Amino acid sequence: MILTGHQLLGSRESAASSDTFVARNLALGADLETVFHEATESEIDDAVSLAAAAFDSFRRLLPEHRADFLEAIAEEVLALGDELLLRASAETAHPLPRCAAERDRVLTHTRQFAGWIREGSWVDARIDRGNPQRQPLPKPDVRSLLEPVGPVAVFGASNFPIAISVLGTDTISAFAAGCPVVVKAHPAHPGTCEIAARAIQRAAVRTRMPEGVFSLIQGRSHETGTRLVQHPGIAAAAFTGSLAGGRALFDIANARPQPIPFYAEMGSINPVFLLPGALQSRAEGIAQGFVAALTAGVGQFCTNPGLVLGLESEEWRRFRSLASEKVAGYAPATMLHSGIHGAYSAGIADRLARAGLELVGQSGDPASAERGEAAAYLFATTQEGLLADPTLFEELFGPVSTLVSCSDPGDFIKVAERLEGSLSATLHGTEEDLLNHRELIEVLRRKVGRLIFNGYPVGLEICHSIHHGGPYPATTHSHFTSIGTRAMHRFVRPVCYQDWPDALLPMELQNANPRGILRILDGERTRDEA
Ligand code: NAP
Repeated sequence: MILTGHQLLGSRESAASSDTFVARNLALGADLETVFHEATESEIDDAVSLAAAAFDSFRRLLPEHRADFLEAIAEEVLALGDELLLRASAETAHPLPRCAAERDRVLTHTRQFAGWIREGSWVDARIDRGNPQRQPLPKPDVRSLLEPVGPVAVFGASNFPIAISVLGTDTISAFAAGCPVVVKAHPAHPGTCEIAARAIQRAAVRTRMPEGVFSLIQGRSHETGTRLVQHPGIAAAAFTGSLAGGRALFDIANARPQPIPFYAEMGSINPVFLLPGALQSRAEGIAQGFVAALTAGVGQFCTNPGLVLGLESEEWRRFRSLASEKVAGYAPATMLHSGIHGAYSAGIADRLARAGLELVGQSGDPASAERGEAAAYLFATTQEGLLADPTLFEELFGPVSTLVSCSDPGDFIKVAERLEGSLSATLHGTEEDLLNHRELIEVLRRKVGRLIFNGYPVGLEICHSIHHGGPYPATTHSHFTSIGTRAMHRFVRPVCYQDWPDALLPMELQNANPRGILRILDGERTRDEA
């Protein structure tokens, strides 16, 4: 496929601006071919206007038809062959198998959403039948379900160029809910975005979706993303990326004359607590699993384990030295882009200069600054040292973590109480350990979105029950997830119909239950007719 670097506005293309940029292969130190055009205000307006015009016809499609669209997207992505993977690898320095794994994830979530909307019960249809004879007042017939909100703006993250970008759950869940989408391409992988967007365009044409159901705008200036979020035609936005970017756009969304929900999934510290039973029986295995999780994808995961806590003991000291040894064996590798590499290098220099922080492990081989490589680092401190330095609670994006020695279980709780909202917390231990640390678990339940037992936070299962979210600053809305089928709930709102004629109700609320979905009928879950 020949990339154009143009905006893809519905089925049209546009390149009105002479303000251009290119993507870079950081590992080779070379610019990639294709010049990308920054979207103009009028192109952004066209994309959103097309989406707004498409909304009513798209939302009215039978769910089966929207499911066909999602399945066609999966087919078109597969039909791209290696092209998508090769470009993603060149733009992000991810090895090809990692890119292939991201593509598999897209196929899984796209098909999962198709199945979910075909089944249809997700709309949470509720019916309370009326009773005109009720005394002292007649009871109205009240019915409600979840309906799509309108055009959604999507911002993907640089670290998942395929699975959390144009083809990510944000886009696919918005389509599943019945919302058109305008994606702001990530400037670090604009070519991958264009290839993926063209697959969606082809699927939209094949399944006769309304013009404007999908558009892609390119841009490397914050102004482009800001304009998109400020556009009055956008009804909600989903973002995955840094705390700084997410917070800036969240504030912009809230400052609009008509504020809109802005669902930002941001960075996270993902603490790991090593309880005594686990360290006694399997310190070596935990050290191995921890270092593998820490360095996976050059540490560029929002679920990277940034703090590890253990009780001062012989076993904890053994774990520390095993983890340090394994970190020494990690070969430095190229990061996603020069911005992330610069931030990581500055963050490591800052940590090396901090009093109270001991360097206990680092990659044996030096990192090449020209190739944008990151070495892995392991620091150590005490509970008191951690609490005295709030910056250690902040995500430093890359393969770095801090080991924290605690004197007693009360120290675990002091640290847990000071944690900000996080995507996950992990505990290694025996079931008896869990019973002995119930208070810690209660604190963590308030702080995180996912509690992991004897595992590692990196690597999410793509399924109905997953929750990938957490209290601020992990996200801007802790009630919602950006992964899994519940992600659709960000793009719908309840609409209630009172005493409405049966034939004019949405199908899901009609007496005969023509879609055969599970509903709440007078307080009982059933597929029965009303
Ligand atoms: P990023 O720099 O925040 O970029 C994300 C997107 O937002 C880009 O399109 C970026 O484009 C735009 N953007 C950023 N700041 C903006 C601003 N002030 N105004 C307008 N647009 C703005 O994040 P990243 O470096 O790509 O991703 C790495 C981060 O993502 C890490 O912190 C990681 O933990 C997090 N992450 C979170 C999850 C999760 O699920 N929670 C998953 C993966 C990654 P421009 O820079 O061109 O404006």
